[in-house]
Amino acid sequence: MKSKVFVTRIIPEEGLNILREMADIKVWQEELPPPREVLLKEVEEVDGLLSLLTDKIDAELMDRAKKLKIVSNYAVGYDNIDLEEATKRGIMVTNTPGVLTETTADLTFALLMATARRIVEGDKFVRAGKWKTWGPMLLLGQDIYGATLGLIGLGRIGYAVAKRAKGFDMKVMYYDQVRNEKAEQELGLEFVTLEKLLKESDFVSIHVPLTPQTRHLINEKTLSLMKKNAILINTARGPIVDEKALYEALVNNRIAGAGLDVMDPEPPSMDNPLLRLDNVVLLPHIGSASVATRTKMAIMAAENLVAGLKGEIPPNLVNKDVLKNRK
Ligand code: NAP
Repeated sequence: MKSKVFVTRIIPEEGLNILREMADIKVWQEELPPPREVLLKEVEEVDGLLSLLTDKIDAELMDRAKKLKIVSNYAVGYDNIDLEEATKRGIMVTNTPGVLTETTADLTFALLMATARRIVEGDKFVRAGKWKTWGPMLLLGQDIYGATLGLIGLGRIGYAVAKRAKGFDMKVMYYDQVRNEKAEQELGLEFVTLEKLLKESDFVSIHVPLTPQTRHLINEKTLSLMKKNAILINTARGPIVDEKALYEALVNNRIAGAGLDVMDPEPPSMDNPLLRLDNVVLLPHIGSASVATRTKMAIMAAENLVAGLKGEIPPNLVNKDVLKNRK
């Protein structure tokens, strides 16, 4: 009998075709994620689940999914999944690392430049008919070329952002839990403490995963160390930044701006005061959103799922400890 798989949203067809070859698949067709009750019901009979970062995969869900062998997350981040509970139950968890690195680094740089050079404000200004003449004081922003960039996290995406920064002759420093001397030599990076990074950077860009250690890593205290002209860029996960503290820092001109592809929660409430600030550029979590990359992610997520269902070790297994007590 074919395995049963639930896919929590429409993903590129290339991935779905791989799944169809070996499993009976059901794909949630709506634009919004399946409501919690629906998801809990759908997982009851499945062997495999292809989930998105908008699906909470916790102990309650796993208890309902008695046959579940593998959760293939359509993302590199997997903070939506309770890894410990999955491992305990012998459920494999996979992600899609690497294929989205360059696309997310491109978006990070786009956001950095848009925030520094006030691109969104400028666009709105023109469309509103406010452009009367060339102005010596009009929409002055921050220089990118030659500025100092501080990367919090030098993994795949952090490194790819550093490469782009070198083209702008930026001085690049980084903070990570592990030093990467090879990357330092290749790109001329400086490994520094978080404190030094925050005190000296013109741009601070976040590239760590969301974990209990990184939740609210950017808070009132860490923001207070940043330069007055500094710009914060977050394309990692919203809860790494304490948004209330960020708002206070921005509104009191303690930092110059912020570019956010991720927020906490997502989507933000329309009352979120960050939505009213001109020195903030906001995007709806589109870091990996290119046609080619989303297709690669679909294929990778499908291949992980198929491998797990076949009883093989999936190429991008996150919870390696699960192999000791795999279903
Ligand atoms: P990665 O290669 O695992 O890089 C993360 C880096 O952060 C690693 O060097 C990691 O060290 C380090 N790190 C982990 N915890 C830390 C801590 N507490 N303090 C300091 N450094 C820490 O991941 P990636 O592929 O670059 O992706 C990074 C994150 O970007 C993902 O987790 C995801 O949340 C986010 N993302 C967002 C989008 C988007 O659409 N906006 C797209 C893709 C990814 P170790 O290697 O030692 O763990």
